[in-house]
Amino acid sequence: MKKKILIVQFRHETNSFCPKKADEGAYRNMFFLVGEEVFLKQRGLRNETGAFLDVFKKYDDFELIPSVGLVASPSGPVTSEVYNFVLKQVEDTIHNNKNLDGILINFHGAMVAEGHDDGEGDLLEFIRNLIGWDIPIITTLDLHANVTSKMIKCATALIPFEKYPHIDTYETGYKAATIMAETLLGKIKPVMAYRKIPYLLPLLPSASSQLSPLYSLAEKLNEQADVLSVRFTHGFFPADIEELGMAVLAVTNDNKTLAEELADELYKLICDNLPNLTVEYPSIDMILEQITDSDEGPVVLADASDNPGAGGLGDTTHILRALLEKGITGAAFATITDAKAVEKCINAGVGAMVELELGGWSDIEYSGGPLTVSAYVKKISDGKYISKAKMSYGVEFKHGKTAVVEISGNLVIITSISRQPYDIEIFKSHGINPQDQKILVVKSTNHFRATFEKVASKIFTLALPGYAVPIPQIYKYKKWKGNI
Ligand SMILES: [Zn+2]
Repeated sequence: MKKKILIVQFRHETNSFCPKKADEGAYRNMFFLVGEEVFLKQRGLRNETGAFLDVFKKYDDFELIPSVGLVASPSGPVTSEVYNFVLKQVEDTIHNNKNLDGILINFHGAMVAEGHDDGEGDLLEFIRNLIGWDIPIITTLDLHANVTSKMIKCATALIPFEKYPHIDTYETGYKAATIMAETLLGKIKPVMAYRKIPYLLPLLPSASSQLSPLYSLAEKLNEQADVLSVRFTHGFFPADIEELGMAVLAVTNDNKTLAEELADELYKLICDNLPNLTVEYPSIDMILEQITDSDEGPVVLADASDNPGAGGLGDTTHILRALLEKGITGAAFATITDAKAVEKCINAGVGAMVELELGGWSDIEYSGGPLTVSAYVKKISDGKYISKAKMSYGVEFKHGKTAVVEISGNLVIITSISRQPYDIEIFKSHGINPQDQKILVVKSTNHFRATFEKVASKIFTLALPGYAVPIPQIYKYKKWKGNI
């Protein structure tokens, strides 16, 4: 008889300080899949679930049981309606499929839901209460997971991404599914050790010089016999929960002592390096002074604080305002979210001039307020394109109705739905050749690097006002009691 593996996919990175909730509509903008759809819509995608499906294609011994596939853009907490819907779907699927042999989960790891500060930990506990403690639960995590003691207690193994930008989503899913298959075939017995590091790590790319000693050690530790996975998570600091911060996760084949030793070794090196794990952000004036006509290729300005991929609302106007005030031209913006402005452009039509109160519709303290501009409507689109970035290859990005406008010599992609535009395809699919621009402004913190670095002459990251400022010290935590 085939061994039965339940597949659960429920992802959210929650910014507790963002006022917009992750409701059903937010999930429907990305993935709101139930039952067989979970597999039908993701077969062939380069994400974790796509990798799960690829791994089990190789075996005749297993039957995969779908439950839910829910993914939403980062924002404020997941609504209780969505969270309870997932609990019910998972419960019903378990009820209808007796004698499960394993559960393979695609989580982010930094989910806060209404009434659940530890979204993933509570769901894992709910599942354990239904199925008991005998069968393995293996879970993939984002690098920015806030790993909690309940997640550790309830999961057999947690396998986070290693890279930021997350170009290893598929590989991580592949690894987790392979560990599940070999566990159920009796070839291995994963055991895990864990160390929490209650430090709020700035949003550093994994290739940064500050992190390279840690990745070098992790790589070395992974080469040892009996090691299944030794990785560390960065944490996601805009979540206000008690168990915030970094973690080391060491998974070995039935060797708890080794797992503890490896976790200790990496934990110690991280602790020793904490004073170096900082970032300085230049002011916009300092950056604009460094942009010259001799730059070979566009200069990229990363508007990290308004990154919709970290809880930004996508509407801030600080950079466009600064460029217009200084009379700078030749910039292209991805993106400013403003559904009303898009409607105005659609009503005016391609080729028309429109007067817009652009962006800045959220709290003025964060957004900078709307900009009054005269805009020439160059293009109207449905805001859809297929991602070619490695971390989401094949996934359709939906920005809602979209307008491309020209404002005083600068191009702005105005979208109706905010979503991190980290794939340079956002420009190409809207008729803008990124190489032809003097400046590319992107509302992303680091993921953009995977596709933008190839064309950029320089990259600057800004820490302007917004809901996703990349500096932990500015957040007013109520639940997290650690020192910053
Ligand atoms: Zn992440």
